[in-house]
Amino acid sequence: MTHPGCRTCSWFPVAGQVSIGPFGPSAPGLLMLPKEEGRRSVDSSRQGSLVDNRRGSVTIPLRLPWSRNRIGPLRGISVEFEANQRRYAPPERPVAVICIDGCADEYLSVSMCHGKMPHTAELCRRGYRGLARGVVPSFTNVNNASIVTGVPPSAHGIAGNFFLNPDTGEEVMMNAPEFLRCGTLLTAAADAGRKVAFITAKEKLRTVLGNGIVSRGGIAFSSEKVDEARAASHGIDGAESIVGRSRPEIYSGDASVYVLEAGAALVEQGRADFLYLSLTDYMQHRYPPEAPESLEFHAALDEQIGRLLQAGCLVAATADHGMNGKNRADGAPNVIYVESLLTDRFGPIARVICPITDPYVVHHGALGALVMVHLQQGAPEADVIRFLDEQDGITEVLTRSQAARKLELPPDRIGDLVVLSGRSVVLGKTPEHHDLSVLEGGLRSHGGRYEQMVPFLLSEPLTDGYLQRARMDPRNFDIFDFACNGTRNDRS
Ligand code: ZN
Ligand code: ZN
Repeated sequence: MTHPGCRTCSWFPVAGQVSIGPFGPSAPGLLMLPKEEGRRSVDSSRQGSLVDNRRGSVTIPLRLPWSRNRIGPLRGISVEFEANQRRYAPPERPVAVICIDGCADEYLSVSMCHGKMPHTAELCRRGYRGLARGVVPSFTNVNNASIVTGVPPSAHGIAGNFFLNPDTGEEVMMNAPEFLRCGTLLTAAADAGRKVAFITAKEKLRTVLGNGIVSRGGIAFSSEKVDEARAASHGIDGAESIVGRSRPEIYSGDASVYVLEAGAALVEQGRADFLYLSLTDYMQHRYPPEAPESLEFHAALDEQIGRLLQAGCLVAATADHGMNGKNRADGAPNVIYVESLLTDRFGPIARVICPITDPYVVHHGALGALVMVHLQQGAPEADVIRFLDEQDGITEVLTRSQAARKLELPPDRIGDLVVLSGRSVVLGKTPEHHDLSVLEGGLRSHGGRYEQMVPFLLSEPLTDGYLQRARMDPRNFDIFDFACNGTRNDRS
């Protein structure tokens, strides 16, 4: 008797007799042994070996005394697909990849230390927990676009929430799918026959990255507008009743918990088996890791992570970016207004774009740790670079070509200069441009280098090859690759 999602039922197939694995009958003539037992029971130098190939399939060599009945790969891989020059071979079991928006690693560490994330702690013990490098600008859309395409912004084209359109001179919000310059692995998975679900907290992400999923039979909706989900446009009717409760408030931790609840419900009901669940960072903007509200929020996330595991999912999680306090010692927001600074020194020679700007101003007041500076023709670029570089709190000033190269950004969607700030500092345009009164309880934000390193979790141990990669420079947008190709998954 086995239980879907139960680790003790994570059986390892060995030839001998028929048994039923957690997701259906195994190949005829196979005995299922607990995974660890199976590994330990075979000595490759004497009797034979259990071999994980690159995709983690299990093969049993000839010399095993009990393997006369059947040899070779025991579990087929239902589908393989390719997206943006990367191949994905997901296991047949459900795969749930979570982007915990704004999850600096200390949110997990502190919550686990307080015993608030028992399922996640167990996941890390059994599987893998490490860090991965996200994309700078460490903003939501940029990194979510990378995660669902598997490539950096230089390939997918999303370099911020806002950019200055060089053709029109207008500031444009990148909230339409036309801005994405390549397809997503989610549509490739749907084309290959997986039941894809893309659930986000923020509607803006659904519109940019969810394109093409529904027309391929998948599901895509946001918790922000779950009540507007319809079969024709979102691939699902009655989403609220399927999840079991009504639409949450977007400015809440519940907007994130709801996404995971929805994902678990879809898996439990057999409606989806390949999921991308992207949360919102409202709580992380508002509360530091040790705040009681934050601990309770992570406990609620953990409960749903446990539910996904119980439903049989291979669970992988990362973040789009971290989060840091951006205040002075007296608690006031620590802001450098870059356009004002340049105007005072050089006159009106520059236009500053804050690419963190989005409809969710309560989160951050459009203040992040990276801005784009567009210079008027004839502006003294070298002097401007030197001047900005000398400012306390500014850590990097990159030219367009340097930023395109070092940060892997599309050169036509960034400024003449890309300017980054320190850990406790944010960059703005002018004081009039930002409404600090909307901030509740100080400013916590992101966008720069100090929010670039993020957690990287998988519920299954990594293969040797992927473990080696994890020790090098894994990117958060490798998470689907690791989940599909890199675990010692039982491939069931
Ligand atoms: Zn985010
Ligand atoms: Zn944010």
